[in-house]
Amino acid sequence: MKPFSYLRPATISEATAAAAKPGAVFHAGGTNLVDLMRQNIEAPATLVDVSRLPATIDDTPDGGLLIGAAARNSVVAAHPSVRTRYPVLSRALLAGASAQIRNMATVGGNVLQRTRCAYFYDAAGSRCNKREAGSGCDAIGGFNRYHAIFGASEHCIATHPSDMCVALAALDATVHLAGRDGERRVALIDFHRLPGDQPQIDTVLRPGELITAIELGPSPAAANSAYRKVRDRSSYAFALLSVAAGLELAGGKIKDIRIALGGVAAKPWRASRAEEILRGEAPTKERFLAAAEAELAAAKTFDGNAFKVELAKRTVAAVLGELTGVNA
Ligand SMILES: Cc1cc2nc3c(=O)[nH]c(=O)nc-3n(C[C@H](O)[C@H](O)[C@H](O)COP(=O)(O)OP(=O)(O)OC[C@H]3O[C@@H](n4cnc5c(N)ncnc54)[C@H](O)[C@@H]3O)c2cc1C
Ligand code: SF4
Repeated sequence: MKPFSYLRPATISEATAAAAKPGAVFHAGGTNLVDLMRQNIEAPATLVDVSRLPATIDDTPDGGLLIGAAARNSVVAAHPSVRTRYPVLSRALLAGASAQIRNMATVGGNVLQRTRCAYFYDAAGSRCNKREAGSGCDAIGGFNRYHAIFGASEHCIATHPSDMCVALAALDATVHLAGRDGERRVALIDFHRLPGDQPQIDTVLRPGELITAIELGPSPAAANSAYRKVRDRSSYAFALLSVAAGLELAGGKIKDIRIALGGVAAKPWRASRAEEILRGEAPTKERFLAAAEAELAAAKTFDGNAFKVELAKRTVAAVLGELTGVNA
C-alpha cells in the first residue's frame, strides 16, 4: 500500500478545503475504501477522515427526516423514526453486510461504495473499464451472474451493490452536498450514473464534494413500505436482486406507489413503468405481475443473469402482496 497522510477535519468547510489537495480522498467507516487501497485500486495521497462530521438524525419542519452522512448504518436502521416512518430503509440496511460492518459503515460511504464486480477487484489479472478506462470488460462473456439487466453499455455491465440506496430511491430521497463552490442537492435517483462510455465515473459528485446528509420527505407510502433481498446465501451476501416498495391505499385503490429494484443496474432502478400501471388501480396479484412484466420488458440479459427477469417479476409481486395483503 502506498504511504498516505491522514487529516481529521472538525467541520464540513475544513473537510472540503482538505479535499482540494491533490490525491485527497474522504474516509468514513473505511469498510470499502480500505479494501480498495489494499487491492491497489485506490492509492490516495491523503485520507480526509469525515467519520466525525454530523451524524445526527433529525425531523425536518415538513415532517421528513434529515440523516447526517456520518450516521452509522446500524444507528440509522435502529432509529425509531426510521423504523416506523421509513421501514423500507431500516429493512434494507439490516439486509446489508454484517452487524460489525454496519457498525462501521456510514450513510455517505454506503452511497459511494463501489461495484462488487469480481473483475473490478482483480487488478492483477482482469480487464476492467471501470478500474482502468479503455482496458476492456471481462464480465461481458465472463462470469456475469450478478450483473446488470438494465442500463448497461458495451463498456460495463456492473451493478451498484448498495441495499440502502434501493430503499432511498423508492423513498425519493435527496442527497445534500457541500463543495468548495457551495452547497447543492441532488435527487438520489439522479446521483448514480449509468456507465455509457465512461464507466469509470460512478456518480455526479464533483471533485472534492462531500455528502453531508440524506433527506427523506414525509409520505404515507413510506410508512407502508418493505424491502426484500434475494441472494445466494441468507446473510453476508450482496443482492442478486432486491425490491424496495412503498404503497398508499385509499378507497380500495392504489393512491401512491413507489418501486425500486436493486442488483439490476449501475444505479438503483426506479420501476416507473410498473408504478404508472398500478397507480389508481385496485391491488390484485394479476395486476402486480402484469406491471412487473411491463417493467421487465426492457431488460437485456447476459449469459449468466437471464434468471433475474423472472426473479424480478415474482419478487415485485411478492413485495406488493406483502404491502397490500393480496396473496401474491
Ligand atoms: C464483507 C462486506 C460485505 C458487505 N455487504 C454489503 C451488503 O450486503 N449490502 C450493502 O449495501 N453493502 C454491503 N457492504 C458494503 C458496505 O455497506 C460499504 O462498504 C459501506 O457502506 C461503506 O461505508 P463506509 O462509511 O465504510 O465508507 P468508506 O469505505 O469510508 O468510503 C467509501 C467511499 O465513499 C467515499 N465517502 C465516504 N463518505 C463520504 C462522504 N460523506 N462524502 C463523499 N464521499 C464519501 C469515500 O471516499 C470512498 O470512496 C459490504 C462490505 C463488506 C466489506
Ligand atoms: S462489468 Fe464493469 S466493473 Fe465489471 S469488469 Fe466490466 S467494466 Fe469492470
